Amino acid sequence: MGLMMIAASLAVISVVITLLFLYEKDAREQQIRAQGVRLVRLLSGMSVPLLEAKGEAKGVLGVLQQSQNDPDFAYAVIVDRDGRPLNEITREGTIVPPAPPPRNPSAWLGERHLTVAGSGRTLTEFHAPLLMNGRLGGFIRLGYYAPGYRMLVQRLPFFASLALPVFLLAPLFYFLVRREIRPLHLANREMERFLQQGTFALPDMAASGEIGDFMGSFTRFVRMMQARVEELESRHSGLLTSTKVLSFRRARIEAVLHAMPDALAVLDESGTVSFVNARLPALLGKPQSEILGHTPREWCVIPKVVAFLSRYEAAGAGGVATDTVEFTPPHAGDKTLSVSAHPLFAGESRASSIGTLVLFRDITEENAGKHAHAEFIAQVAHELKTPLNTLKMYSEALMGPEGASEGFRVEGLNVIHDETDRLALLISNLLSLTRFELGGLEMKRQRVRLHELLADAFENIAQSGRDKGLHFHIDVPREMSPVFIDKELLRIAVNNLLTNAIKYNRPGGRVELTAEEHDDAIRISVKDTGIGMTPDEQDKIFDKFYRAENAQVRDKPGHGLGLPLVQQVVYLHHGELEVRSERDAGSEFIITLRKDTGILKKAV
Ligand code: ADP
Repeated sequence: MGLMMIAASLAVISVVITLLFLYEKDAREQQIRAQGVRLVRLLSGMSVPLLEAKGEAKGVLGVLQQSQNDPDFAYAVIVDRDGRPLNEITREGTIVPPAPPPRNPSAWLGERHLTVAGSGRTLTEFHAPLLMNGRLGGFIRLGYYAPGYRMLVQRLPFFASLALPVFLLAPLFYFLVRREIRPLHLANREMERFLQQGTFALPDMAASGEIGDFMGSFTRFVRMMQARVEELESRHSGLLTSTKVLSFRRARIEAVLHAMPDALAVLDESGTVSFVNARLPALLGKPQSEILGHTPREWCVIPKVVAFLSRYEAAGAGGVATDTVEFTPPHAGDKTLSVSAHPLFAGESRASSIGTLVLFRDITEENAGKHAHAEFIAQVAHELKTPLNTLKMYSEALMGPEGASEGFRVEGLNVIHDETDRLALLISNLLSLTRFELGGLEMKRQRVRLHELLADAFENIAQSGRDKGLHFHIDVPREMSPVFIDKELLRIAVNNLLTNAIKYNRPGGRVELTAEEHDDAIRISVKDTGIGMTPDEQDKIFDKFYRAENAQVRDKPGHGLGLPLVQQVVYLHHGELEVRSERDAGSEFIITLRKDTGILKKAV
């Protein structure tokens, strides 16, 4: 800024001096012209001899030379009609430039600009005719240099005295301006610091006048902006906090939806899928990217499901109620899936629908369970009907003429007695099994000496078997640790195994009951040398009502509920039931009660 002011002041000085110089030069040129014209006219009226210096006489030219003190005077020359110089006076060092005399009488008196050979200076020449005896005798030529640098040098002190105050005023002006704009400078520096560091403190700006007013307004403006920025920052941080809270809640809701056992999708108001949980892609056999952001008709190939879900597209408030359809997915033909749709509403008013929740469930097992349940009921009915038919048949026969026969009456009553026993056993087994499966059976654990329990059960059962010519063997050590179990349930299990070992044995066969105590477990084994089972049969013997498809089995009474009961009893004691069998060689059922399941607790 200081440099600029110096440059500006120098420029002003230069302009002023140039203008002054041009003005003075112009004035001087006018002066020379007036003087030259006047003098050449004066000399033109004189005779040539009077003008010329001859010998001692100086002539007018000589006088002129002596008296001429004009600094710009160059020469005075008398020339003849052809322009040859007759007499001349010159300023020292000046060579008169040759010039032809004017021919036309109208141009005899005039002026012209010439250049001096050698120095190259320009001059103005005034010329006029000289008459001799009334006729043209020659010309007088007066030359004056054009005023130039000489005059500038001459006037230098004047120009200097003029320039000096201007030059001195410049720094003063500069300091005054600088003082005035200092607040602007400070504000600018603060703004630069703000841009670099992000902190802004308004400087103390004592200023008056218009700059003071401006700075006052500027300060208020900045304070207002600062307050606005602070307000925006606090709003921003508030928004950030609520965004975090919202995204946390959203993440929590999504986590819940992902953890749900069912696969689900959320359709927005236009029917486009806006969310799917992790289970859906696997269940539908489609990648998530093909489902998310698309409408069901874009990813579902089952027309029934598409038609069902389309009802929920743009359904509006309460347009369609919750509903369900079942379908088989193309990628897993053995599965049955159900899809149900539940309209979603904003708030409790149910005024505006915000989409639909679509739940997909794999109901294959559920359906199989329902089927098994229906089969079970049919089996029970069948098993009940057979003895009831027998009972009805015999009772009717007894009431008829056949009842008169003593032999038939005894046979009939025996059959009725046996069938009633079978029915009672069937019903008791059914009840026990149902209670096991519903979890309603309470275990009554007590301290039991296995030797006593097993020997007692064995003796009761073996009695009936010995009549059939079977051989019985028991090996249960007396010193076995007492166990903490449900005595009645274990007796049922062992009874069933022993009954089967007798029932499915062959004449002269062997039935063996053994028990062993190991470090980690107690093992009870019921072994026979009977008809045995194929591996295929072994896979099914724990299904309710299963009986092998052969005459040796079908000829014997039974309902296929004994082994499922044994399995439940062992399961309740956290034990294991193992079958080893070979067709026509015999079977062995082993119950393992592991000690780490607490069967020795309170028993020691
Ligand atoms: P049930 O004896 O009343 O038929 P179970 O549930 O006790 O019913 O037995 C189911 C089936 O398992 C029997 O029908 C039979 O086919 C087979 N089974 C059970 N125990 C034996 C065994 N010790 N030897 C051969 N087959 C057996």
